[in-house]
Amino acid sequence: MSLQTVMERLAILADAAKYDASCASSGTTKRDSRDGKGLGSTTEGMGICHAYAPDGRCISLLKLLLTNHCVFDCHYCINRKSSNVRRARFTPQEVVDLTLSFYRRNYIEGLFLSSGIIKSSSHTMEQLIEVARILREEHNFRGYIHLKTIPEADPELVAQAGLWADRVSINVELPTDAGLARLAPDKNSATIEGAMGSLSTAIDEARDSQKRFTKAPRFAPAGQSTQMIVGADGASDAQIVGKASTLYDRFALRRVYYSAFSPIPEASAVLPLKRPPLMREHRLYQSDWLMRFYGFAPHEVQAAADADGMLPLDIDPKLAWALKFRESFPVDVNRAPREALLRVPGLGTKAIDALLAARRYRSIRLEDVARLTVSVKKLRPFIVTADWRPTLLTDRADLRARLAPKAEQMELFG
Ligand code: SF4
Repeated sequence: MSLQTVMERLAILADAAKYDASCASSGTTKRDSRDGKGLGSTTEGMGICHAYAPDGRCISLLKLLLTNHCVFDCHYCINRKSSNVRRARFTPQEVVDLTLSFYRRNYIEGLFLSSGIIKSSSHTMEQLIEVARILREEHNFRGYIHLKTIPEADPELVAQAGLWADRVSINVELPTDAGLARLAPDKNSATIEGAMGSLSTAIDEARDSQKRFTKAPRFAPAGQSTQMIVGADGASDAQIVGKASTLYDRFALRRVYYSAFSPIPEASAVLPLKRPPLMREHRLYQSDWLMRFYGFAPHEVQAAADADGMLPLDIDPKLAWALKFRESFPVDVNRAPREALLRVPGLGTKAIDALLAARRYRSIRLEDVARLTVSVKKLRPFIVTADWRPTLLTDRADLRARLAPKAEQMELFG
Protein backbone atom coordinates (compact mmCIF):
# COMPACT_ATOMS: atom_id res chain seq x y z
CA MET A 1 0.00 0.00 0.00
CA SER A 2 1.31 3.46 -0.82
CA LEU A 3 1.72 6.09 1.90
CA GLN A 4 -0.97 8.15 0.16
CA THR A 5 -3.41 5.26 0.46
CA VAL A 6 -2.67 4.84 4.13
CA MET A 7 -3.16 8.57 4.66
CA GLU A 8 -6.46 8.53 2.80
CA ARG A 9 -7.69 5.64 4.85
CA LEU A 10 -6.45 7.29 8.01
CA ALA A 11 -8.45 10.40 7.11
CA ILE A 12 -11.61 8.35 6.55
CA LEU A 13 -11.28 6.11 9.59
CA ALA A 14 -10.19 8.84 12.00
CA ASP A 15 -13.10 11.00 10.87
CA ALA A 16 -15.49 8.06 11.28
CA ALA A 17 -14.29 7.55 14.86
CA LYS A 18 -15.06 11.11 15.94
CA TYR A 19 -18.68 10.23 16.74
CA ASP A 20 -17.61 8.12 19.68
CA ALA A 21 -17.31 10.25 22.81
CA SER A 22 -16.04 7.55 25.11
CA CYS A 23 -12.31 7.93 24.64
CA ALA A 24 -11.44 9.85 27.79
CA SER A 25 -8.97 7.83 29.74
CA SER A 26 -9.85 8.71 33.30
CA GLY A 27 -8.88 5.95 35.65
CA THR A 28 -5.59 5.03 34.08
CA THR A 29 -2.44 5.18 36.10
CA LYS A 30 0.68 7.03 35.12
CA ARG A 31 2.48 5.14 32.40
CA ASP A 32 6.15 4.45 32.44
CA SER A 33 7.32 6.64 29.58
CA ARG A 34 10.93 5.62 29.61
CA ASP A 35 10.48 3.76 26.36
CA GLY A 36 8.98 6.83 24.61
CA LYS A 37 11.24 8.20 21.91
CA GLY A 38 11.65 11.76 20.77
CA LEU A 39 10.89 15.06 22.32
CA GLY A 40 7.95 17.37 22.31
CA SER A 41 4.40 16.80 21.37
CA THR A 42 1.92 18.05 18.85
CA THR A 43 -1.70 18.89 18.80
CA GLU A 44 -1.87 18.39 15.06
CA GLY A 45 -2.67 15.21 13.28
CA MET A 46 -5.53 13.18 12.00
CA GLY A 47 -7.23 10.99 14.54
CA ILE A 48 -5.49 12.39 17.58
CA CYS A 49 -7.89 13.10 20.40
CA HIS A 50 -7.10 14.47 23.81
CA ALA A 51 -8.41 13.02 27.01
CA TYR A 52 -7.76 13.94 30.62
CA ALA A 53 -6.60 11.60 33.36
CA PRO A 54 -7.79 12.19 36.94
CA ASP A 55 -4.49 13.80 37.83
CA GLY A 56 -5.12 16.43 35.16
CA ARG A 57 -2.66 15.05 32.63
CA CYS A 58 -3.72 15.45 29.04
CA ILE A 59 -3.36 12.17 27.20
CA SER A 60 -3.19 12.10 23.42
CA LEU A 61 -4.74 9.06 21.80
CA LEU A 62 -4.78 7.88 18.23
CA LYS A 63 -8.51 7.44 17.78
CA LEU A 64 -9.69 5.50 14.80
CA LEU A 65 -11.80 2.70 13.45
CA LEU A 66 -10.30 -0.47 12.09
CA THR A 67 -12.94 -0.18 9.38
CA ASN A 68 -16.09 1.80 8.70
CA HIS A 69 -17.60 -1.08 6.74
CA CYS A 70 -20.49 -2.44 8.78
CA VAL A 71 -23.05 -5.16 8.31
CA PHE A 72 -25.33 -3.58 10.93
CA ASP A 73 -27.77 -0.82 10.15
CA CYS A 74 -28.08 1.42 13.20
CA HIS A 75 -30.12 4.42 12.04
CA TYR A 76 -28.11 7.02 13.95
CA CYS A 77 -24.72 5.87 12.62
CA ILE A 78 -22.98 7.33 9.61
CA ASN A 79 -21.23 4.00 9.02
CA ARG A 80 -24.38 1.89 8.87
CA LYS A 81 -24.76 -0.64 6.08
CA SER A 82 -27.18 1.52 4.10
CA SER A 83 -25.06 4.69 4.35
CA ASN A 84 -23.38 6.04 1.27
CA VAL A 85 -20.06 7.03 2.84
CA ARG A 86 -16.58 6.31 1.53
CA ARG A 87 -15.39 3.09 3.09
CA ALA A 88 -11.94 2.10 4.18
CA ARG A 89 -10.26 -0.65 6.12
CA PHE A 90 -6.97 -1.23 7.89
CA THR A 91 -5.41 -4.56 8.65
CA PRO A 92 -4.42 -5.11 12.29
CA GLN A 93 -0.75 -4.82 11.29
CA GLU A 94 -1.38 -1.44 9.65
CA VAL A 95 -3.00 -0.10 12.81
CA VAL A 96 -0.04 -1.42 14.80
CA ASP A 97 2.41 0.30 12.42
CA LEU A 98 0.51 3.58 12.59
CA THR A 99 0.28 3.46 16.38
CA LEU A 100 3.97 2.74 16.82
CA SER A 101 4.97 5.37 14.34
CA PHE A 102 2.85 8.05 16.07
CA TYR A 103 3.95 6.86 19.49
CA ARG A 104 7.66 6.94 18.62
CA ARG A 105 7.28 10.49 17.35
CA ASN A 106 5.68 11.32 20.69
CA TYR A 107 2.44 12.41 19.00
CA ILE A 108 0.32 10.03 21.05
CA GLU A 109 0.39 8.17 24.33
CA GLY A 110 -2.08 5.51 23.39
CA LEU A 111 -4.69 4.08 21.09
CA PHE A 112 -8.47 4.19 21.08
CA LEU A 113 -9.69 1.57 18.63
CA SER A 114 -13.20 0.77 17.54
CA SER A 115 -14.66 -0.79 14.41
CA GLY A 116 -17.68 -1.35 12.27
CA ILE A 117 -18.75 -4.97 12.07
CA ILE A 118 -17.06 -6.86 9.25
CA LYS A 119 -18.26 -10.37 8.36
CA SER A 120 -19.37 -11.09 11.92
CA SER A 121 -19.04 -9.64 15.42
CA SER A 122 -16.58 -12.37 16.46
CA HIS A 123 -14.42 -11.90 13.36
CA THR A 124 -14.26 -8.15 14.04
CA MET A 125 -13.45 -8.68 17.69
CA GLU A 126 -10.62 -11.03 16.73
CA GLN A 127 -9.12 -8.29 14.56
CA LEU A 128 -9.36 -5.68 17.31
CA ILE A 129 -7.74 -8.04 19.79
CA GLU A 130 -5.02 -8.85 17.29
CA VAL A 131 -4.01 -5.17 17.16
CA ALA A 132 -3.69 -5.01 20.94
CA ARG A 133 -1.92 -8.36 21.14
CA ILE A 134 0.70 -7.46 18.54
CA LEU A 135 1.32 -4.12 20.24
CA ARG A 136 1.72 -5.63 23.68
CA GLU A 137 3.31 -8.98 22.88
CA GLU A 138 5.50 -8.28 19.88
CA HIS A 139 6.40 -4.64 20.57
CA ASN A 140 6.15 -4.49 24.33
CA PHE A 141 3.92 -1.43 23.88
CA ARG A 142 3.27 0.21 27.23
CA GLY A 143 1.02 2.98 26.01
CA TYR A 144 -2.63 3.22 26.90
CA ILE A 145 -5.05 1.05 24.91
CA HIS A 146 -8.80 1.50 24.94
CA LEU A 147 -10.63 -1.19 22.97
CA LYS A 148 -14.23 -0.88 21.97
CA THR A 149 -15.76 -4.26 22.61
CA ILE A 150 -18.48 -5.83 20.50
CA PRO A 151 -21.15 -7.34 22.74
CA GLU A 152 -22.43 -9.75 20.12
CA ALA A 153 -18.97 -11.37 19.78
CA ASP A 154 -18.04 -14.69 21.40
CA PRO A 155 -17.68 -14.00 25.18
CA GLU A 156 -14.22 -15.63 25.08
CA LEU A 157 -13.07 -12.93 22.69
CA VAL A 158 -14.61 -10.14 24.75
CA ALA A 159 -12.70 -11.51 27.74
CA GLN A 160 -9.45 -11.55 25.77
CA ALA A 161 -9.82 -7.84 25.03
CA GLY A 162 -9.42 -7.11 28.73
CA LEU A 163 -6.12 -8.96 28.88
CA TRP A 164 -4.46 -6.52 26.47
CA ALA A 165 -6.39 -3.29 26.94
CA ASP A 166 -6.23 -0.76 29.77
CA ARG A 167 -9.84 0.11 29.28
CA VAL A 168 -12.67 -1.68 27.54
CA SER A 169 -16.01 -0.22 26.64
CA ILE A 170 -19.31 -1.36 25.26
CA ASN A 171 -21.78 1.25 24.11
CA VAL A 172 -25.31 0.87 25.40
CA GLU A 173 -26.13 3.39 22.67
CA LEU A 174 -29.64 4.36 23.75
CA PRO A 175 -31.21 4.79 27.16
CA THR A 176 -34.33 2.72 26.56
CA ASP A 177 -34.92 -0.77 25.17
CA ALA A 178 -37.65 0.61 22.92
CA GLY A 179 -35.24 3.20 21.49
CA LEU A 180 -32.62 0.54 20.85
CA ALA A 181 -35.10 -1.77 19.14
CA ARG A 182 -36.29 1.06 16.89
CA LEU A 183 -32.97 2.67 16.02
CA ALA A 184 -30.50 -0.23 16.24
CA PRO A 185 -32.49 -3.26 15.07
CA ASP A 186 -29.40 -5.54 15.01
CA LYS A 187 -28.62 -4.82 18.68
CA ASN A 188 -30.21 -6.08 21.81
CA SER A 189 -30.00 -4.63 25.31
CA ALA A 190 -29.88 -8.06 26.99
CA THR A 191 -26.79 -9.00 24.94
CA ILE A 192 -25.14 -5.62 25.59
CA GLU A 193 -25.74 -5.78 29.33
CA GLY A 194 -24.79 -9.46 29.47
CA ALA A 195 -21.39 -8.59 27.96
CA MET A 196 -20.97 -5.65 30.35
CA GLY A 197 -21.75 -7.97 33.24
CA SER A 198 -19.12 -10.48 32.11
CA LEU A 199 -16.51 -7.73 31.82
CA SER A 200 -17.41 -6.39 35.23
CA THR A 201 -17.00 -9.84 36.79
CA ALA A 202 -13.66 -10.38 35.03
CA ILE A 203 -12.38 -6.94 36.18
CA ASP A 204 -13.38 -7.70 39.79
CA GLU A 205 -11.79 -11.15 39.72
CA ALA A 206 -8.55 -9.78 38.27
CA ARG A 207 -8.36 -7.09 40.96
CA ASP A 208 -8.95 -9.69 43.59
CA SER A 209 -6.28 -12.00 42.16
CA GLN A 210 -3.79 -9.16 41.96
CA LYS A 211 -4.22 -8.49 45.65
CA ARG A 212 -3.28 -12.09 46.37
CA PHE A 213 -0.76 -12.88 43.63
CA THR A 214 1.60 -10.22 42.39
CA LYS A 215 2.01 -11.97 39.03
CA ALA A 216 -1.72 -12.37 38.38
CA PRO A 217 -2.61 -11.13 34.86
CA ARG A 218 -3.97 -7.61 34.46
CA PHE A 219 -7.47 -7.26 33.14
CA ALA A 220 -8.66 -3.85 31.96
CA PRO A 221 -7.02 -2.02 34.89
CA ALA A 222 -8.70 1.26 33.88
CA GLY A 223 -12.10 -0.45 34.02
CA GLN A 224 -14.97 -0.23 31.59
CA SER A 225 -17.07 2.64 30.32
CA THR A 226 -20.02 3.16 28.03
CA GLN A 227 -21.66 5.78 25.88
CA MET A 228 -25.26 6.86 25.43
CA ILE A 229 -26.51 8.89 22.52
CA VAL A 230 -28.68 11.78 23.65
CA GLY A 231 -31.52 13.15 21.58
CA ALA A 232 -31.82 10.46 18.89
CA ASP A 233 -34.86 8.93 20.56
CA GLY A 234 -37.52 10.42 22.79
CA ALA A 235 -35.91 9.48 26.13
CA SER A 236 -36.06 12.22 28.75
CA ASP A 237 -33.14 13.34 30.91
CA ALA A 238 -34.79 11.64 33.88
CA GLN A 239 -34.78 8.35 31.96
CA ILE A 240 -31.14 8.85 30.94
CA VAL A 241 -30.10 9.61 34.52
CA GLY A 242 -31.97 6.50 35.71
CA LYS A 243 -30.28 4.33 33.10
CA ALA A 244 -26.83 5.72 33.88
CA SER A 245 -27.30 5.11 37.58
CA THR A 246 -28.39 1.51 36.98
CA LEU A 247 -25.33 0.93 34.80
CA TYR A 248 -22.97 2.40 37.40
CA ASP A 249 -24.51 0.19 40.09
CA ARG A 250 -24.67 -3.04 38.14
CA PHE A 251 -21.39 -2.91 36.27
CA ALA A 252 -19.18 -0.62 38.36
CA LEU A 253 -18.52 1.53 35.30
CA ARG A 254 -15.78 4.14 35.44
CA ARG A 255 -17.74 6.52 33.26
CA VAL A 256 -20.93 6.92 31.31
CA TYR A 257 -20.32 9.26 28.39
CA TYR A 258 -23.08 11.23 26.74
CA SER A 259 -22.94 12.09 23.10
CA ALA A 260 -25.47 14.56 21.72
CA PHE A 261 -26.91 13.05 18.59
CA SER A 262 -25.72 14.93 15.51
CA PRO A 263 -27.70 14.64 12.30
CA ILE A 264 -25.84 12.70 9.64
CA PRO A 265 -25.97 13.02 5.85
CA GLU A 266 -28.82 11.09 4.25
CA ALA A 267 -30.30 10.44 7.66
CA SER A 268 -33.02 7.88 8.18
CA ALA A 269 -36.54 9.28 8.42
CA VAL A 270 -36.94 7.92 11.96
CA LEU A 271 -34.32 10.35 13.29
CA PRO A 272 -34.95 13.90 14.48
CA LEU A 273 -33.93 16.57 11.97
CA LYS A 274 -32.16 18.70 14.56
CA ARG A 275 -29.50 17.87 17.04
CA PRO A 276 -30.37 18.48 20.69
CA PRO A 277 -28.80 21.58 22.29
CA LEU A 278 -25.21 20.83 23.30
CA MET A 279 -26.14 22.30 26.68
CA ARG A 280 -28.32 19.22 27.23
CA GLU A 281 -25.25 16.99 27.03
CA HIS A 282 -23.47 19.35 29.46
CA ARG A 283 -26.36 19.24 31.96
CA LEU A 284 -26.29 15.43 31.84
CA TYR A 285 -22.56 15.43 32.61
CA GLN A 286 -23.26 17.77 35.54
CA SER A 287 -25.97 15.43 36.82
CA ASP A 288 -23.50 12.56 36.49
CA TRP A 289 -21.07 14.48 38.72
CA LEU A 290 -23.81 15.12 41.26
CA MET A 291 -24.31 11.36 41.61
CA ARG A 292 -20.62 10.44 41.58
CA PHE A 293 -19.08 13.17 43.71
CA TYR A 294 -21.83 15.12 45.49
CA GLY A 295 -23.82 12.35 47.15
CA PHE A 296 -27.02 12.88 45.15
CA ALA A 297 -29.21 9.82 44.71
CA PRO A 298 -30.53 9.26 41.17
CA HIS A 299 -34.09 10.09 42.27
CA GLU A 300 -32.87 13.43 43.61
CA VAL A 301 -31.26 14.35 40.30
CA GLN A 302 -34.42 13.23 38.54
CA ALA A 303 -36.42 15.45 40.89
CA ALA A 304 -34.42 18.45 39.63
CA ALA A 305 -35.97 17.91 36.19
CA ASP A 306 -39.07 19.73 35.00
CA ALA A 307 -42.46 18.02 34.71
CA ASP A 308 -41.50 16.62 31.27
CA GLY A 309 -38.45 14.90 32.76
CA MET A 310 -35.98 17.32 31.16
CA LEU A 311 -33.30 19.12 33.15
CA PRO A 312 -33.48 22.89 32.77
CA LEU A 313 -30.97 24.20 30.25
CA ASP A 314 -30.58 27.69 31.71
CA ILE A 315 -29.48 26.61 35.20
CA ASP A 316 -27.36 23.72 36.39
CA PRO A 317 -29.06 20.67 37.98
CA LYS A 318 -27.71 21.42 41.46
CA LEU A 319 -29.26 24.88 41.44
CA ALA A 320 -32.47 23.42 39.96
CA TRP A 321 -32.62 20.94 42.84
CA ALA A 322 -31.91 23.61 45.47
CA LEU A 323 -34.65 25.86 44.11
CA LYS A 324 -37.15 23.00 44.31
CA PHE A 325 -36.12 21.84 47.78
CA ARG A 326 -35.62 25.12 49.59
CA GLU A 327 -36.54 23.55 52.92
CA SER A 328 -32.99 22.09 52.90
CA PHE A 329 -31.53 25.61 53.05
CA PRO A 330 -29.90 27.80 54.26
CA VAL A 331 -26.93 25.69 55.27
CA ASP A 332 -24.63 27.03 58.00
CA VAL A 333 -21.10 26.82 56.60
CA ASN A 334 -19.66 27.00 60.12
CA ARG A 335 -21.58 23.99 61.43
CA ALA A 336 -23.10 21.88 58.64
CA PRO A 337 -21.64 18.47 57.81
CA ARG A 338 -19.86 17.98 54.48
CA GLU A 339 -22.91 16.18 53.02
CA ALA A 340 -25.08 19.29 53.53
CA LEU A 341 -22.42 21.62 52.11
CA LEU A 342 -22.20 19.44 49.00
CA ARG A 343 -25.82 20.41 48.27
CA VAL A 344 -25.12 24.14 48.11
CA PRO A 345 -25.25 25.46 44.53
CA GLY A 346 -21.94 26.95 43.44
CA LEU A 347 -19.92 25.21 46.15
CA GLY A 348 -17.49 22.66 44.72
CA THR A 349 -15.70 19.87 46.53
CA LYS A 350 -12.37 21.73 46.73
CA ALA A 351 -14.03 24.85 48.19
CA ILE A 352 -15.88 22.66 50.70
CA ASP A 353 -12.68 20.95 51.83
CA ALA A 354 -11.02 24.36 52.22
CA LEU A 355 -13.96 25.65 54.29
CA LEU A 356 -13.98 22.55 56.50
CA ALA A 357 -10.24 22.98 57.14
CA ALA A 358 -10.52 26.73 57.80
CA ARG A 359 -13.50 26.54 60.16
CA ARG A 360 -11.51 24.45 62.62
CA TYR A 361 -9.54 27.61 63.46
CA ARG A 362 -11.95 30.50 62.89
CA SER A 363 -15.47 31.49 61.97
CA ILE A 364 -16.18 31.59 58.25
CA ARG A 365 -17.44 34.92 56.92
CA LEU A 366 -19.13 35.62 53.58
CA GLU A 367 -15.92 37.08 52.13
CA ASP A 368 -14.12 33.79 52.92
CA VAL A 369 -16.71 31.92 50.85
CA ALA A 370 -16.47 34.53 48.09
CA ARG A 371 -12.73 33.98 47.81
CA LEU A 372 -13.29 30.27 47.14
CA THR A 373 -16.12 30.48 44.63
CA VAL A 374 -16.83 31.94 41.23
CA SER A 375 -20.00 33.79 42.21
CA VAL A 376 -21.04 34.33 45.79
CA LYS A 377 -24.29 35.83 44.50
CA LYS A 378 -25.44 32.33 43.57
CA LEU A 379 -24.61 31.02 47.04
CA ARG A 380 -25.99 33.77 49.27
CA PRO A 381 -29.61 32.56 49.32
CA PHE A 382 -28.46 29.09 50.41
CA ILE A 383 -25.90 29.72 53.17
CA VAL A 384 -25.44 31.20 56.61
CA THR A 385 -22.03 32.56 57.63
CA ALA A 386 -20.79 34.38 60.73
CA ASP A 387 -21.85 37.71 59.18
CA TRP A 388 -24.57 36.69 56.71
CA ARG A 389 -28.08 35.27 56.95
CA PRO A 390 -30.36 35.27 53.89
CA THR A 391 -33.56 35.77 55.99
CA LEU A 392 -36.39 35.86 53.41
CA LEU A 393 -34.14 35.65 50.34
CA THR A 394 -34.20 31.83 50.24
CA ASP A 395 -37.97 31.75 49.89
CA ARG A 396 -38.46 34.58 47.42
CA ALA A 397 -40.77 33.69 44.54
CA ASP A 398 -38.47 35.41 42.05
CA LEU A 399 -35.29 33.66 43.25
CA ARG A 400 -34.94 31.55 40.11
CA ALA A 401 -35.18 34.61 37.89
CA ARG A 402 -32.58 36.38 40.05
CA LEU A 403 -30.10 33.51 39.78
CA ALA A 404 -30.62 32.28 36.22
CA PRO A 405 -28.28 33.85 33.68
CA LYS A 406 -29.85 36.44 31.43
CA ALA A 407 -31.45 34.78 28.40
CA GLU A 408 -29.24 34.82 25.36
CA GLN A 409 -29.41 33.39 21.89
CA MET A 410 -27.46 30.22 22.53
CA GLU A 411 -27.65 28.39 19.23
CA LEU A 412 -27.87 30.77 16.35
CA PHE A 413 -27.09 28.10 13.79
CA GLY A 414 -28.36 25.05 15.75
S1 SF4 B 1 -22.69 -1.52 14.72
FE1 SF4 B 1 -24.12 0.17 14.42
S2 SF4 B 1 -23.15 1.90 15.52
FE2 SF4 B 1 -21.55 0.34 15.19
S3 SF4 B 1 -20.57 0.91 13.27
FE3 SF4 B 1 -22.17 -0.56 12.77
S4 SF4 B 1 -23.96 0.68 12.24
FE4 SF4 B 1 -22.51 1.98 13.34
